[in-house]
Amino acid sequence: MSKSVIVIGAGIGGLSAAIRLAAAGFKVQVFEQNPSPGGKMYQIVEQGFRWDTGPSVLTMRHVLDELFASVGRRLDEYVALQPIEPLTRYFYPDGTQLDVTRDLDRMREQINQIEPADAAGYDRFLEYARNLHRIVGPVFIYDSPPTLRSFFKVKPWDAVKVDGIRTMHQAQRSYVRSPHLLQLLGRFATYVGASPYLAPATLNVIAHVELNEGIWYPSSGMYSLAQALMTLAVEMGVEFYFATPVEQINLHHQQASGITLQDGKRVPANAVVANVDVATVYQKLLPSHPTITDALRKLLSGEPSCSGFILLLGVRGVHSTLAHHNIFFSSDYAQEFDQIFRLGVMPDDPTIYAAITSRSTPSDAPVGMENWFILVNAPPLGNNWNWHTKAHSYRDLVLDKLASFGHDLRNDILVERMITPIDLERATGAYRGALYGLSSNNRWAAFRRIHNRSQLVRGLYFTGGTTHPGGGVPMVTLSGKVASQMLLQDLARGLI
Ligand SMILES: Cc1cc2nc3c(=O)[nH]c(=O)nc-3n(C[C@H](O)[C@H](O)[C@H](O)COP(=O)(O)OP(=O)(O)OC[C@H]3O[C@@H](n4cnc5c(N)ncnc54)[C@H](O)[C@@H]3O)c2cc1C
Repeated sequence: MSKSVIVIGAGIGGLSAAIRLAAAGFKVQVFEQNPSPGGKMYQIVEQGFRWDTGPSVLTMRHVLDELFASVGRRLDEYVALQPIEPLTRYFYPDGTQLDVTRDLDRMREQINQIEPADAAGYDRFLEYARNLHRIVGPVFIYDSPPTLRSFFKVKPWDAVKVDGIRTMHQAQRSYVRSPHLLQLLGRFATYVGASPYLAPATLNVIAHVELNEGIWYPSSGMYSLAQALMTLAVEMGVEFYFATPVEQINLHHQQASGITLQDGKRVPANAVVANVDVATVYQKLLPSHPTITDALRKLLSGEPSCSGFILLLGVRGVHSTLAHHNIFFSSDYAQEFDQIFRLGVMPDDPTIYAAITSRSTPSDAPVGMENWFILVNAPPLGNNWNWHTKAHSYRDLVLDKLASFGHDLRNDILVERMITPIDLERATGAYRGALYGLSSNNRWAAFRRIHNRSQLVRGLYFTGGTTHPGGGVPMVTLSGKVASQMLLQDLARGLI
């Protein structure tokens, strides 16, 4: 009889692990507390509008291609991904507008209007980021969690190019000097919930995957990707149990032996893969034990990545000057990050991201209307900001700021939903509402990230944004790959 694995959580990392393990011959059962798959990748449909409520920017499509190919399928047969151009339209408080595109001639023309010296600097930055990806990809992204030994994969002459000492911002300043370009490149820190003024320059690799490789969008919305993964998983034989919260991971002699559901039912298994935030696993799903309490204490002493404040708006009218992805920048980026990460409060002058997917998928809004997804970076939940009392006034501040950029939505909102970090924590189990697990505002973050194989409990594996290689859709897809590989290695060694 085949060995059995339980996956707790049907987020993208859980689905990725489940698909690979089922294809490897395991009996795989996925238990998910929500009524549908996807975790943070979720959608809301209301009064003719559809919004993706989680990820909206999809990069590194090759990671998804590889997942489907690994089980003998083609991604295109399940979901149609289209490239998005311009990648993002940037609006600055001084009236400057910049369409970031992969068309380098057009980029140079636009940068020349802002700061001629930066046109060549931008080209050099792209090459630097491409090179970083070549060097650090095998160490930090595509393989098992890094150790100091992983650096043997880096050629001696490349070692200094890992750029782990400078901050992202310091490195960017050596390529471009205009505040506009610096703000644009600095924004990539937020893709892992970090600050460009604190995160190591190694993370400039993120710019490579978007600026050099592009942004993709499933023609029926981001959520259709979660549905595609679920379809593939079912085809591989995975069994799903929705609206079925797991209460506890059961142990037998410090080895995972199955789970107990909230209704008290016990389900045995040879191994367990947790797609839940690791802090939540330690705090709520594992029986209390001094080693686990100690690991939890260490984990909670780390700084979480940032959270998000979201508005979903169904809006009357069409804002034809906007693109699919839009950024309205703040006037003082350093102060914005200082408020989020040091003071733990919402910025007075936030950078606002607005995705309008009805630009690419007209059926996402009724004719003559738009579906706005607005995201503002927020501190992880803490004592310095009370969402219960401040959410509505902050919503007004965001709409006032959009009006100052010429997009006054205030009298045209037909449908509205607000999602605060409290809601994000409740819906996905993300500790303090952090979107990307532990913060990367520290040069050792990649080494401190929780391993995909539990160091405390045999037969327990982790997949998802709080484990290696980190948060973001492609990363958690890779974490499912690493977790399933480790499980297979342990099986081969007779450990489970
Ligand atoms: C607002 C927002 C915007 C984002 N934007 C982007 C973006 O543009 N691009 C990008 O690449 N990434 C983005 N991300 C990050 C990306 O969505 C996440 O990194 C990724 O989806 C997380 O996947 P995961 O595998 O960690 O699982 P999660 O999505 O965290 O899912 C975990 C699952 O476990 C379930 N679960 C928890 N506890 C239990 C339990 N006890 N029993 C059963 N089930 C349980 C949860 O219900 C959930 O379904 C964004 C995230 C958010 C929230």
